Amino acid sequence: MSYGAELATGFSRPYWDGLAEGVIRLERCMDCGRCQDFPQGRCRHCLSTRLDWIEAAGTATLHTFSTVFRAPSPEFAKDAPYVVGMVRLPEGVQLMARILADESELRLDMPLRAKPVKWPGEHWILGFVPDTESGRA
Ligand SMILES: [Zn+2]
Repeated sequence: MSYGAELATGFSRPYWDGLAEGVIRLERCMDCGRCQDFPQGRCRHCLSTRLDWIEAAGTATLHTFSTVFRAPSPEFAKDAPYVVGMVRLPEGVQLMARILADESELRLDMPLRAKPVKWPGEHWILGFVPDTESGRA
């Protein structure tokens, strides 16, 4: 399975281009005002197709996390063990992302900031690091 660039077609391209630029772009519904991740071209809340893009603040709160010791496929195996987490963005979106920290550094509800990372290999995905400089910790 491939990740990233091969998925960057049509309506999802701004999302992938944003990650490569270091920003999170979210689809925002022009009818109900809610944001969503991953891009779908249709609002998952009201089914509207009137969507635009916003640039997220790049902050999040850690909802839960887990360390992956056995990678789901060979391309991730070289990085195991690694941490994945469910994070909440201030834009009202909850998503799963790579957490670029050791489990011992993490606690629930801690502040995070976005750090897109090439993983595995050459494709950008959404990652987060503990936000130790925000004063929110
Ligand atoms: Zn909507």
